Amino acid sequence: MAADTSTAGAAMIEADGLTKYYGPFIAIENVSFRIPRGEVVAFLGPNGAGKSTTMKILTGYLAPTAGTARIAGHDMSTDRLAGATRLGYLPENGPLYPDMTPRSLLEFFADARGMRGAYREQRIDAVVRQCELGSVIGKAIGKLSKGYRQRVGMAQVLLHEPDVLILDEPTSGLDPNQIREVRDTIRRLGEEKTILLSTHILQEVEALADRVILVAEGRLRYDGPPAELCHGGRGLDDRFHELTRAAPA
Ligand code: ADP
Ligand code: MG
Repeated sequence: MAADTSTAGAAMIEADGLTKYYGPFIAIENVSFRIPRGEVVAFLGPNGAGKSTTMKILTGYLAPTAGTARIAGHDMSTDRLAGATRLGYLPENGPLYPDMTPRSLLEFFADARGMRGAYREQRIDAVVRQCELGSVIGKAIGKLSKGYRQRVGMAQVLLHEPDVLILDEPTSGLDPNQIREVRDTIRRLGEEKTILLSTHILQEVEALADRVILVAEGRLRYDGPPAELCHGGRGLDDRFHELTRAAPA
């Protein structure tokens, strides 16, 4: 409980030697990184690289086989609730309950997070406005377009005013206009929050990130600024290919 979240330079998101086996299969191996307050980091890698697994461990939804995940200094294996109050998590494919309406979903999450009284109402109103959900507030989530479902997901993420966001492929399956909208939202949120967002889309990196963490086959392959990733005049897609192709046996 004695997590230090005020010290300058303290990591808001920390993966410390994370390893995860699914049965005999090793999904991630010894993945470590530290993300300080205020950074927007793209978590890049091909499908199956281990991005979602790492994010589920960081958010406390999955226990690592080895290593420690910390959010704002809280160990997510032993001190998950304290970490969760600081954290908004958008899971892959959204959190969505198709029969609920956006309003009932937000009320459900507000209750689950122990939000009460005027603050609860204020926050629900605020995210409905911020994510422009007014016109669909009473419709079944299952009947909404993918773009609106994603907005409902973002509203749920932002409801309790977390300062750390972990977003798993927030633009996947959206059309170009919706992608632009989500990127604008992330850019705005990035001015005050610490964000880790996964993607396999290279343009996302250049559009959004201060830093890139690249994984392939469950291992960390690059951690640094986007510009350095493509230095030497090589395009980002060339470097991506080079860093993510199967390691020689
Ligand atoms: P990414 O999000 O980068 O696409 P994932 O973390 O979803 O990667 O998956 C990493 C690897 O672990 C993949 O090979 C995937 O098939 C495997 N995997 C993911 N979840 C499970 C699971 N519950 N059981 C077994 N294997 C899994
Ligand atoms: Mg994934």
